[in-house]
Amino acid sequence: MPLPVVDNHAHLDIRRDDDAAGEGLDLQAHVERLITDARAVGVDRIVQIGCDLESAELTTRLVDAHPALLGGVALHPNEAPLHAERGDLEEAYASIERLVAHPRIRVVGETGLDYYRTGPEGRDAQQDSFRWHIDLAKRTGKVLQIHDRDAHDDVLRILAEEGAPEKTVMHCFSGDMAMARECVERGYYLSFAGTVTFKSARELRNALSVVPPEQILVETDTPTSPRRRIGAP
Ligand SMILES: [Zn+2]
Repeated sequence: MPLPVVDNHAHLDIRRDDDAAGEGLDLQAHVERLITDARAVGVDRIVQIGCDLESAELTTRLVDAHPALLGGVALHPNEAPLHAERGDLEEAYASIERLVAHPRIRVVGETGLDYYRTGPEGRDAQQDSFRWHIDLAKRTGKVLQIHDRDAHDDVLRILAEEGAPEKTVMHCFSGDMAMARECVERGYYLSFAGTVTFKSARELRNALSVVPPEQILVETDTPTSPRRRIGAP
């Protein structure tokens, strides 16, 4: 690539099931290999995202070990309702709050809403969690990264109600042109993943076309499915 590129959203602690070359590597060696591969194609910095408690903890260790990484931590929108159900959501929030204080954790994310994987019974917990993470990003001055799956209207509504943090990223943007315009007007960053290259993604390319370059980010959201967590070192 003509310029160094930042992958602003990746899950390096998760491995594809069919990643034979990574078989047998421990987590740190696996991550080092991904960083080397990325650098070889011009991606010299990566934001590692840990969005459940185990992964968030790992993320703080990964950013300490690898200078090419910065990190983000949060409870994923599909994770928060599980904690609410078990009755340990407050403890989970406390852990995220402790981890986000790490100086190389620059992102609160990914948080947001996912109406695809979580049914109506989990929506209240999701929305409460989203509001809590928005507040956390503002209190700590960190970037907010948003996961929005089939929930565009509520994501935009809740951001407006709470007041978005100064730096807000729509991770793996999946809206149409009208939504892209709205996000641009509000000063959000729009992050595009490989999906924008799919043949069927004309709508997404139209959305991309209305975003000024200074508000465009790119990401891999690696790895694609099927995938599994690598055991902690
Ligand atoms: Zn992600």
